[in-house]
Amino acid sequence: MNINVARIQDKPFSLQSEEPAESFSMLSRMQSEGECIFNGPVRSEVTVTREFDHMRVSGRVSAEVTLACSRCLASYNEEVDSHFTIFFRKGTSQDVDEEEEIELGEHDLISAFYSGDEIDLSHEIEEQVAMGIPLKPLCSEECRGLCPTCGIDMNLSACSCQREQTSLKFSALKDFKVSR
Ligand SMILES: [Zn+2]
Ligand SMILES: [Zn+2]
Repeated sequence: MNINVARIQDKPFSLQSEEPAESFSMLSRMQSEGECIFNGPVRSEVTVTREFDHMRVSGRVSAEVTLACSRCLASYNEEVDSHFTIFFRKGTSQDVDEEEEIELGEHDLISAFYSGDEIDLSHEIEEQVAMGIPLKPLCSEECRGLCPTCGIDMNLSACSCQREQTSLKFSALKDFKVSR
């Protein structure tokens, strides 16, 4: 998504776009490395306003992905939906002195730079999507995962290994007490 800077005035205006995940290099790499599968386009809606010395870009990005649960390995769908506000300044990151960067950090704002006549949002959009994808995906908070001994999916059935596991844990605890 590109925004023509000349179009940005004090009055906010909105833009929407739908782009295939494959058109973002970071997302396409995540997909080819098996981190997730994108089931549809990346949708972006942003509102842009000119403010003082910067352009405020706020909005949301969303995408539907298929993830593999890190506990039970089952695949499931999740909607990535992230909201953001980014302040774009003209120039490059080298123009910012250290003091200013610290100040921005304290206010927890994302600041970025543009040069030329357009703000290219592609990188920010793909970062927002990538950050919305969990590092350890879970099909549900209560997912019981696979039995480490027999590999059975403990969400679907129980196995006799479970009891042994519990008793092992208790005996380890007992040993610990004795050794003290
Ligand atoms: Zn699971
Ligand atoms: Zn088992």
